[in-house]
Amino acid sequence: MLSWGFFVAIQMFMTASSLSINLTAIANNWRLLNQQSATAETAAVVKANAYGLGAAQISSALWQAGCRCFFVAHLEEAAELRSVLPEAEIHVLNGLTSDPTDYLGLEIQPILNSLDQIALWSKHDPGTRCFIHIDTGMARLGLDAEETEDLVDNPDLLKGLKQPWLMSHLASAEEADNLENDLQLEQIAQVKRQLGLPTCFANSSGIFLGPDYHFELLRPGVALYGANPTPGKPNPMQTVVSLTCPIIQIRDIPKGQPVGYNGTWRADTVKRIATVPLGYADGFARTHSSDNQQARTHLYWQGQAVPVVGRVSMDLVTLDITEIKAPAPQVGDALELLGPNQSLDQLAASCGTIGYEILTSLGRRYARTYID
Ligand SMILES: *Cc1c(COP(=O)(O)O)cnc(C)c1O
Repeated sequence: MLSWGFFVAIQMFMTASSLSINLTAIANNWRLLNQQSATAETAAVVKANAYGLGAAQISSALWQAGCRCFFVAHLEEAAELRSVLPEAEIHVLNGLTSDPTDYLGLEIQPILNSLDQIALWSKHDPGTRCFIHIDTGMARLGLDAEETEDLVDNPDLLKGLKQPWLMSHLASAEEADNLENDLQLEQIAQVKRQLGLPTCFANSSGIFLGPDYHFELLRPGVALYGANPTPGKPNPMQTVVSLTCPIIQIRDIPKGQPVGYNGTWRADTVKRIATVPLGYADGFARTHSSDNQQARTHLYWQGQAVPVVGRVSMDLVTLDITEIKAPAPQVGDALELLGPNQSLDQLAASCGTIGYEILTSLGRRYARTYID
């Protein structure tokens, strides 16, 4: 039998990577978004396992905060959510893609993305709110211009639906000055006038384009999870995710020593290198690798930026800690990837992506801790 001393020693030595998710911050973020409109209801988009953070925990926290309407992408995601939230309204963005009874049995609502889907669902309509997606400029999902015109000319196509609503999705909401936003707004507002239906339009950034964009229901996703919906301006959202990873080895290397795969980074003088168990299999993209001698991405130690050097490998990354001021980091000390020193958006910018992709990639291998 192993003694307790053994466990204590191992624990002191091997600080694990820690992905922590603050549910109070998520609830506060939902309330803040909800306060942006005096009248509109606020839903929550929890597709892709709540942007990778855990749909069950996050949706429960949102329900407790007062959210009653949830959007996911797939029927399977909706079915999982139904087991967590028996009373919630659940809508499937990808639409009516399998047998209507698959949705009806779980009281799940497909978004209706075409006239065919409207016709099929009308035969089964359970009488609950359902959304008709009007494509106003993304050319991705929803009724295209021709189908929309048909619908406007023949509003009877909706007579089989007791509670039809309209929805549409902005292509460039985070670019506040993009004229496409105005064009999409004009289009959905026109269809709304013609059909006289309540409407759901704004995603996270859309909410901050102003009251014209709010209509009757807001549909935020990424801002709930702490990303900045107003790029270029201070982030109004609270930080939700923090991720720290321990140093598992430190070595001093001589001038000229290459580091990592293909030796793309070389010590130009004596260097001290720290190795951390964070790799592309953890969702830390290989594009965070240094551009030869030039670091793109940093982790943080006591507020100091620690540059990633060499290539990110599957399970590991190497960092140059030579210049880090006292107290020097030791094996077992945790470096911050996400947290007070580095936001989602900053990390995303360092490797040419967006906070959404950071969120949905990170944490595949970490234990997650939920903080209330
Ligand atoms: C993902 C998604 C959202 C949420 O967008 P955010 O930018 O994350 O707020 C809203 N509507 C649709 C149709 C989506 O696909």
